[in-house]
Amino acid sequence: MAIQSSKATFPGGVHPPENKQLSEHGGIEPVSPPKLMAILLSQHLGAPCQPVVAKRDTVQAGQMIGKSDAFVSAPVHSPVSGTVKDIALQSHPVVGRTTAILIETDPDSAAESKPPFDRFDSGFSAEPYSVEQICKAVHDGGLVGMGGAGFPTRVKIEPNPAMPKEILLINGCECEPFITCDYRLMLEGTWQVLAGIRLAAKACGVDRVRIGIEDNKPQAVSVMTEAAASVKDLDIQVVAIKTKYPQGGERQLIRSLLGKTVPTGKIPPTIGVCVLNVATCAAIAEAVVLNKPLTHRVTTVTGQAIAKPGNYYVPVGMTVGDLIEHCGGLTEQAAKVVMGGPMMGFAVADLTTPLTKTSGAVTVLTQEDVTRAKHQKQQTPCIRCGRCLTACPEGLNPTKIAHAVKYNRMDLAERYYMSACIECGCCSYVCPANIEITGYIKTGKILVARAKKRMQA
Ligand code: SF4
Ligand code: SF4
Repeated sequence: MAIQSSKATFPGGVHPPENKQLSEHGGIEPVSPPKLMAILLSQHLGAPCQPVVAKRDTVQAGQMIGKSDAFVSAPVHSPVSGTVKDIALQSHPVVGRTTAILIETDPDSAAESKPPFDRFDSGFSAEPYSVEQICKAVHDGGLVGMGGAGFPTRVKIEPNPAMPKEILLINGCECEPFITCDYRLMLEGTWQVLAGIRLAAKACGVDRVRIGIEDNKPQAVSVMTEAAASVKDLDIQVVAIKTKYPQGGERQLIRSLLGKTVPTGKIPPTIGVCVLNVATCAAIAEAVVLNKPLTHRVTTVTGQAIAKPGNYYVPVGMTVGDLIEHCGGLTEQAAKVVMGGPMMGFAVADLTTPLTKTSGAVTVLTQEDVTRAKHQKQQTPCIRCGRCLTACPEGLNPTKIAHAVKYNRMDLAERYYMSACIECGCCSYVCPANIEITGYIKTGKILVARAKKRMQA
């Protein structure tokens, strides 16, 4: 079968060492839930959920335990049957601490769940499902963008007369180094992913679909191309695109696949595009066809300092520590645990931090990695080389924004379009003066958001 390749790409970006070999050959393994689960009430963009269960309540696997009436939000569900032990603050991978529902797993519910790949095949049709049914199942199932952004999926796919969609783009890039969960999902859950794509296309009201996969994953390109060829009611094509970070960023993927630019400050639907990650598509199929909420996901556990790197089907709410223990524990070289990959991930000091719906990876760095990073962090003054400008995929001037933040000139930082920064880390990666440019920008955004909140109060 001829594979479509595109030489088109986005400006800027970098190509860090891929390091996918540690886990790319490991098939997806189910993981048994631990004795205690911690399901965070804020795992998405938008309003956090409020608990709908109380301490000492009995819950069933798949039961909704938190929800919000806000339009931009997504309910959370228990992956296990058990008893609510507490509702308390728990470490959160991004926002510090937030409320979680702690559930003691019933011993009868302690069996591992397997991904339902064998429930889908080439005979799937989206015909029996109405648009309303699809959107309701996606909302009720608590689906959010699983590539990392965590935007509620229902809001993305449901019909919106003000912003009609023309094309659906599927993100199978997985451009962040080390991570291989989406790659394995495309190989092992091909028909489930494709079923989700067909349901999403129906909800979006589009008949054109493009699946972008980086050309360092030829096997995934091949299986997805073969599967897509069986679909007759959609114009669906798999496109192998250049391996470059951050190729999987929504705006970068649109540029590479369609040659279009999403205007600064706008979102893809304003130019008629909906972008979904392959894991989100698999979850759509599960929610709509099997009536199963988002309680499990595939997560890569990787790095030189983990005993058994691989790809695992984990219950959302399992702690990082429990997952690491399941993977044989840390080796003596372990020095830092990162949720996510090395470019956009967050270092976690507290291993009781639970995995969320967006946790695609846990990367364990070695002492050697950290020593190298420490060395990199010995900053020198900016030498005005301009490398950060060339690397920025959003066409920003990172050094000017960072300087504005450093000197507390948020007005200037805003004028340099700080809010358009996608926090990809390319500028920091290329900076020969080892300036933590992205760190400054992240801090600046937090300070601006806090100031806005204070003004609204
Ligand atoms: S300024 Fe933002 S978008 Fe540009 S390279 Fe730096 S982190 Fe990425
Ligand atoms: S890459 Fe670093 S040294 Fe070069 S201009 Fe940007 S901030 Fe300055």
